[in-house]
Amino acid sequence: MPHFKLLGTAAGGGFPQWNCACQLCDLSRTQPRLCAPRTQLQASFSGDGEGWFLINASPDLRFQIEANPELQPSARFGKRNTPILGIILTTADLDQTLGLLLLREFQPLVVYATPLVRSVLEANSFFRMLRRVPNQLTWIDIAPGVPFSPGGSVTCTPLPLPGSLPFYARDPDAPEIGGAAHNGASLGLLLEFDGRRIAYTPALPEVTEELLAVYDTCDTILVDGTFWSDAELSRTHSGTPSARSIGHIPMSGEDGTIALLADLSKPKKIFVHLNNTNPALDPRSAEYKQIIEAGWEIGHDGWKLD
Ligand SMILES: [Zn+2]
Repeated sequence: MPHFKLLGTAAGGGFPQWNCACQLCDLSRTQPRLCAPRTQLQASFSGDGEGWFLINASPDLRFQIEANPELQPSARFGKRNTPILGIILTTADLDQTLGLLLLREFQPLVVYATPLVRSVLEANSFFRMLRRVPNQLTWIDIAPGVPFSPGGSVTCTPLPLPGSLPFYARDPDAPEIGGAAHNGASLGLLLEFDGRRIAYTPALPEVTEELLAVYDTCDTILVDGTFWSDAELSRTHSGTPSARSIGHIPMSGEDGTIALLADLSKPKKIFVHLNNTNPALDPRSAEYKQIIEAGWEIGHDGWKLD
C-alpha cells in the first residue's frame, strides 16, 4: 500500500502571503473555510506507513510535522526520535531547503541530493549547524535518470528538468531557466511503489517528449500549478517577471499545462505549488471550474493518494 501525502501545496511565500493584501489573500484570511490557507510546498511518502521520507524541506516544516501525526516522534522509541528517515532534495531553492535548518537539534539526518545541490548548501555557513556532531548529516548522491531506493519497496528516479540554480547561488546575470536538463540543479521525481507510479514535478519549465512518455506510464502526476496565466504576477505587482521566464508553464492557454497534457488519459492529474496570485485558488472562480472540467484536481494541504 503506497503512502504519499501533500503537507503543503502553496508556492514560495505560502497562501496568504505575509505582505499581500490581494483579493485572494484577503479571501483566505477572512473566509478560510471557503478559500483554504496553504502552507508552502511539502510532500512526504512511505513504503510501509512507519518510516517516512520528505521530498524537500519547506520553511513551514515544523508546522507541517505538528499537523501530521505520522511524522511525529513516538515515546515508544525513547525521548528523542523521528519517523523521518530521510529528505530527498530536488532543488536548492530556499522555499524547499530552509526547512532543513529547522531539523537540527542534533538529530541525525540523511539527505539525498545531486552533488550540485549539495555543494550549494554546503557553501552556506548556516548549514554547518547540521554538522555540529559526527554523523549528524549523511549525504547520499543522486543523479538525473539514475534510480535509487531510499528504503522499503519504494524506488525513486530523479527526472532531469531544465533549470539553473536559484538566484542566491548563481551568477546574477545568468538566465533563470538557462541550465541544461542534466546539470542536476532541478529535478522531478518518479516514485514507484508496488507497481504504482507517481510523478512529482512541481516546478515545470517545459514539457519534453521524455517527460510526456514518463507521465504516460504513471497512475498519478503532480504538476506545477504555480500560475494560471503567464502575465499573472505582473497584474498584482508591476515590474515582476512572466511565469515562463521564471520557469513555470502556466495552467491556461494553448501551450499551458492543461492543453499540453490533455491527451494523457491514464494518470490522475493534480496541480500543486499554487502561487497566491492564481485565481483558481478561489473555488467559485471560472478558472477553478475550467480546471475541474478538464479532469484535473487541485491538491490541498493534507491531500493523500488513496
Ligand atoms: Zn496575494
